[in-house]
Amino acid sequence: MSGAYSARVLVLRKTKLGESDLIVTALDSEGHQVRAVAKGARKPGSRFCGRVEPFTVLDCLFARGRTLDVMTEAETVATHEALRRDYDSVRAASVVADFLDRVTADADADPRLFELGVATISALETAPAEAAPTLVAAFLVKGMAMIGLRPVLAGCVSCGAECEEPKAFSVSGGGVVCQKCAAGDPDAVATSPGLSSALAWLLRARLAEAAADPLAAQACREALVVLRAFVTRHIPARMRALDEYVRG
Ligand SMILES: [Zn+2]
Repeated sequence: MSGAYSARVLVLRKTKLGESDLIVTALDSEGHQVRAVAKGARKPGSRFCGRVEPFTVLDCLFARGRTLDVMTEAETVATHEALRRDYDSVRAASVVADFLDRVTADADADPRLFELGVATISALETAPAEAAPTLVAAFLVKGMAMIGLRPVLAGCVSCGAECEEPKAFSVSGGGVVCQKCAAGDPDAVATSPGLSSALAWLLRARLAEAAADPLAAQACREALVVLRAFVTRHIPARMRALDEYVRG
């Protein structure tokens, strides 16, 4: 296959190649993962130098290659420079990049994942630090929904029984479970009664709302622990950034 194509991409990861090149893993605005070589990108003065960084949004030209495509041009759309200077923001944004990298590695995903990823990273850059965990939790629950794993929060995921204030979440079932089903489900984790409404809010809230009115620290912590277990159970690849973020 030969030819050139252009794409707007969110850079997810870069890895060194040879003396001075980089392999860039990025998500394009259609939801396809792009892996391309940026030649000479690690040489000082290269046109890619400082541009091809995780969390940046670029308008790129690519040439199709036999194994990997080659990035031939890159125009910066958003650097997210302020985010990259803050250690905690980088940890939070790394969860976003890692998730998008893994879920789009083998299959094309929903184009909305690109928008969600860019919006979350922008929100992490501008929101107060205490809102970051809520934004990460909102990203995870929305991202899971977009890949077809929307948690079931209204009624028991196992038997369908109405459960007001459920006290357990089935990691394998992907939703809240009633007391009876929880008893026989080895993958049910006990939760506080407020968890299901917190997850439902994270699913429906806009990111700006989540940033302006974050969950209480304890509730957010619980949501992240449950979401990490849910993500880990359903997505085979290990997400180190998520593990580290939730471990604290
Ligand atoms: Zn049940």
